[in-house]
Amino acid sequence: MTLARGRHFLSIPGPSVMPERVLRAMHRDAPNIYEGEIIALTREVIAGLKRVACTGHHAMLYISNGHGAWEAALTNTLSRGDRVLALATGRFARGWAEMARRLGVAVEILDFGPRAAVDPDRLEDALRAAPDTRAVLVCQTDTASSALNDIPAIRAAMDAAGSSALLMTDNIASLACDEFHMDAWGVDVTVAACQKGLMTPPGVGIVFAGPRAEAARRRADLVTPYWDWRPRMHPEEQYQLFCGTAPTHHIFGLAEALRMIFEEGLEAVWARHRVLAGAVHAAVEAWGSGGPWELNIPDPAARSAAVTTIRAGTVDVAPLRALADATLGVTLGVGLALGTPVAGSREPGVFRIGHMGHVNPAMLLGTLGAVESAMQALGLPHGRGAVEAAAAVIAAAADRPARAAQ
Ligand SMILES: *Cc1c(COP(=O)(O)O)cnc(C)c1O
Repeated sequence: MTLARGRHFLSIPGPSVMPERVLRAMHRDAPNIYEGEIIALTREVIAGLKRVACTGHHAMLYISNGHGAWEAALTNTLSRGDRVLALATGRFARGWAEMARRLGVAVEILDFGPRAAVDPDRLEDALRAAPDTRAVLVCQTDTASSALNDIPAIRAAMDAAGSSALLMTDNIASLACDEFHMDAWGVDVTVAACQKGLMTPPGVGIVFAGPRAEAARRRADLVTPYWDWRPRMHPEEQYQLFCGTAPTHHIFGLAEALRMIFEEGLEAVWARHRVLAGAVHAAVEAWGSGGPWELNIPDPAARSAAVTTIRAGTVDVAPLRALADATLGVTLGVGLALGTPVAGSREPGVFRIGHMGHVNPAMLLGTLGAVESAMQALGLPHGRGAVEAAAAVIAAAADRPARAAQ
């Protein structure tokens, strides 16, 4: 029988759950785009995004998804024939690298495999061997593998090699989930999109740029008029912020999402994601004690707080995902083929749980419990105590209400 009534959970790594507050903020009439509230709200959104990325430099918005932000970052900083190094830890940096290659950039991929983070020593060696490298591309979180890269260690390796390359990070999955300090960590360009940790429907791509990136724009010959970040960075007229009509309702939604992030506190947002990720890790380890289940990233320090990639050995997880979706009320993330940039290719023995943005323990324990029900219903072997292990991680972190503590 199907038991899937009540609220359906979307446990995929983006687009993520949209808070009611964001949806309500968007549910309104079209505003005047030339004057009034939308002008001030756009400034508020840009300031808020900079606060989330911990940068005092520039944030440019595009009506696009993350791929658009990728292209904006590349075309505003690079020229045809420039050398760049892409650090692959799953799949997404390869996608970004492939886009650069198609733009005419000479891309070298340094591959760290689908189950580990970047090794800074190997990066340092590669940069010493190629001192003319103009940019290093890396995902803070690779959403396919769920690897979390150590951005300060990558910066340190670049400095140790004496590299003048720009450090460009893809934070599409990690912004407002994994801790990040753009300026303090020496990042030159960061790309993001609004539909993951920022809890807003897909449609706004974001590029953050520091002074070295702004300087690189002067010689970049790949830029095209729409993607040029200069008018967005230094607008003389409001319409230049979006090179045309503003994405009005996305601005309403994003402004509300940012208010929610600052009400909670950015540090608290990061800490919550860490706890919820730890709960998923504990559950998977318990399942793995009696079955093929395994965290894709063995090193705990290299696991993202936004998404967890789970391996099921030779088990095809399609029936598990289908059962969870149709009868248990939760959509789980598909396994993306690791180590390949081919769009749409799947890994049958892998699924992912997204835990980014608007997520609380009840939602996450619900997802984990539903996965376990699906394992039982399908007769898939698994160790016991997974939900209990996840609950224990959450219990250890939970504040006790003042009255209960008496
Ligand atoms: C989701 C994602 C992308 C792609 O974003 P789109 O909005 O689908 O274009 C790129 N990189 C990472 C790390 C992502 O998580």
